[in-house]
Amino acid sequence: MEKGVPVLEDLPSPQGKNVLVRTDYNVPMVGGRITDDLRIRLSVETLAWLLDHGAAKITTASHLGRPKGQPDPAFDMAPVRDRLNELLVAAGADAGRVDVMDNLRFDPREEAGDLSFAEELVAGQDLFVNDAFGAAHRAHASVVGPPRLLPSAAGRVMAREAEVLGRLLHGAPRPFVTVVGGSKVSDKLGVIEALLERVDALLIGGGMCFTFLAAQGHSVGESLFEPDHLEACGRLLAGGGRVVLPTDLTVLSPGGRHGAGCLASGVVRQVGADVPDGWVGLDIGPGTAAEFSDIIGEARTVLWNGPMGEFEDPRFAAGTRAVGDAVAATKGFTVVGGGDSAAAIHAFGLYDRIDHVSTGGGASLEYLEHGDLPGLAALRDGALGG
Ligand code: ADP
Ligand code: MG
Repeated sequence: MEKGVPVLEDLPSPQGKNVLVRTDYNVPMVGGRITDDLRIRLSVETLAWLLDHGAAKITTASHLGRPKGQPDPAFDMAPVRDRLNELLVAAGADAGRVDVMDNLRFDPREEAGDLSFAEELVAGQDLFVNDAFGAAHRAHASVVGPPRLLPSAAGRVMAREAEVLGRLLHGAPRPFVTVVGGSKVSDKLGVIEALLERVDALLIGGGMCFTFLAAQGHSVGESLFEPDHLEACGRLLAGGGRVVLPTDLTVLSPGGRHGAGCLASGVVRQVGADVPDGWVGLDIGPGTAAEFSDIIGEARTVLWNGPMGEFEDPRFAAGTRAVGDAVAATKGFTVVGGGDSAAAIHAFGLYDRIDHVSTGGGASLEYLEHGDLPGLAALRDGALGG
């Protein structure tokens, strides 16, 4: 846990009090139905603790999706309210004492970080708990405002995330191996740079590996490639030899269709570290997957962020699956961050075999890059912080 961030036990007794809880109920929805309720399920622990300790009334506040600062029925909290109610009842908690307020982003002052909105949120409330790790990297009104106005603490989800990610930054058992993938190197250069100083090996796959490979003089064909970051990738490669790049790749022939649920077409081949003209690199090859798995198997700490290929297309899932299996199998302490990486972990049935799957993609990367988040700093700077 980040030093000085107050937790539930640091609050004045919730007995008979009204408590505002900033939750992360930004759940994936399709046609008004929740497709993954993990974030709602995880919130129950904090809510149940507050109810057990006598809270008179809990009001949860969250954003959901991206309404444009005005009420929009497509982002109504009603499905969340219903699901939370079911979960609280199933947990034997007094659901009647818990209210789910409207989507915070129905008001433009939320994203603007307007303190007047925070003042309205805390009206009639006695205590504030922030359990929305997934929003902690945003200086939005509901994140940074209430700790200035009420005795405030981190909820269980927030405290666990900060504790686990803090452990990666401060004294992670070595060897410490980080695996980074995903689509764009530009999204993750900052965190790669910050982690490079701390890790023993940094394994790079996914779409971002091509800008690194290009910096080494390899041809990348039609693969994802960000020329603006060529120089930065070259600089990271020059600094110490901890970066490990693919030595073979799985590629698709010119014009082949690829992606989730598409009408797949084209020829799939294994090649070395050079992609032929017109072909697209969409996964690490089997040799690389085996090498990465060996390195992961030796690690005492593993952090994984970003799929190794376009795993949504089964022809390009093997690298991500191999890395997922290796992370699940290693004896070391394992952390997975990133929305799509977490989705892969779920799809492969590996969730229970990972020590910590972060609930906040952007928040976990920003924490690892900067060592702190606005939401945590606000709690530390509040009356109960130290
Ligand atoms: P996370 O959400 O785990 O941080 P990202 O959002 O950075 O991951 O990237 C995930 C996406 O990257 C996936 O949708 C995947 O299809 C895509 N991807 C991975 N490798 C490649 C590749 N070689 N070419 C194109 N897209 C890729
Ligand atoms: Mg993503």
